[in-house]
Amino acid sequence: MKKILTLLLLVFCSVSFVAAEGQKDSSDAKGYIGVAMPTQSSQRWIQDGGNMKDQLEAKGYKVDLQYAEDVVENQVSQLENMITKGVNVMVIASIDGEAITNVLQKAADADIQVIAYDRLIRNSPNVSYYATFDNFKVGVQQGSYIVEALELDKGAKGPFNVELFGGSPDDNNAYFFYDGAMSVLQPYIDSGVLVVQSGQTGMDKVATLRWDGATAQSRMDNLLTAFYADGETVDAILSPYDGISIGVLSSVKNIGYGTAGQPLPIITGQDAELPSMKSIIAGEQTHTVFKDTRELARVAVGMVEAILEGGEPEINDTKTYDNGVKVVPSYLLEPVSVDVNNYEEVLIGSGYYTADQLK
Ligand code: BGC
Repeated sequence: MKKILTLLLLVFCSVSFVAAEGQKDSSDAKGYIGVAMPTQSSQRWIQDGGNMKDQLEAKGYKVDLQYAEDVVENQVSQLENMITKGVNVMVIASIDGEAITNVLQKAADADIQVIAYDRLIRNSPNVSYYATFDNFKVGVQQGSYIVEALELDKGAKGPFNVELFGGSPDDNNAYFFYDGAMSVLQPYIDSGVLVVQSGQTGMDKVATLRWDGATAQSRMDNLLTAFYADGETVDAILSPYDGISIGVLSSVKNIGYGTAGQPLPIITGQDAELPSMKSIIAGEQTHTVFKDTRELARVAVGMVEAILEGGEPEINDTKTYDNGVKVVPSYLLEPVSVDVNNYEEVLIGSGYYTADQLK
């Protein structure tokens, strides 16, 4: 009998210990953070979400990570759920930067502060900080790559044909990328060294809704049919994002580019996503811009800590990002221009990818 009692006591003790531990786990968390990401259809956002979760959990925060598959309504209801669940801070990479004003008001009413992650959230006073990259510089790097690859900086006069692609018109970043690129390309277009055969310039004509590669591919199909059927060749394509670059590449390859007689055009990109890195190594896509998502997460986590634990977040820009209501204090990280000549040093050297991942 005594044995049985002892055994029962032991079982009881361990059950209550486990229960207490369980409770301790959640009450011990330093805070509950909602992380809203746009989509898992692009590798970079999977890395962003993973980095945010890992880094926040390593610091003792509890995390609710959500992806909205590029559907604005999904993201709004995910944010509403986070408010209901009682998160302390929300970190948001918005799908449509102008579509979450109301839900952010609800967050503010519940004393939840918001950090804009990578993409500026517009038309809301309820954004405390913005963690991002120097987005104008991303565009400058893309434009400069075209200029250098065509040796315009060395005096080549062409004329060369270029076509322009922009990002999603509901993403503030898309305008910064485009304006940065055009700050470099426009003078060559004005002097006639670069020719946009389609005449399609300006974000109102070249934007790609939701950064969708298939949309870009069909626009490129149309451009080739309408403006390049009479023996003109396209020499360079400004693409703001790797997924768009891959779509555009399919289009030009489908009509025979990619041979010695008809080489592929120079094609820029952004995010150093794996399919594009493999394409660059295979000599197809020409360029990308690497933005280290580990660093972006580090900066955003620092902002979370500053909000919940006091202290000053890292801020290095208080002028650039006016969201229509206020200038959001920001931290801008440095993008890195990447092609076949430096990818090993930049991407493998920094431990972002292993050599095996790029095979
Ligand atoms: C990001 C880019 C990304 C694009 C498409 C932008 O807001 O800054 O890195 O290529 O969205 O996902």
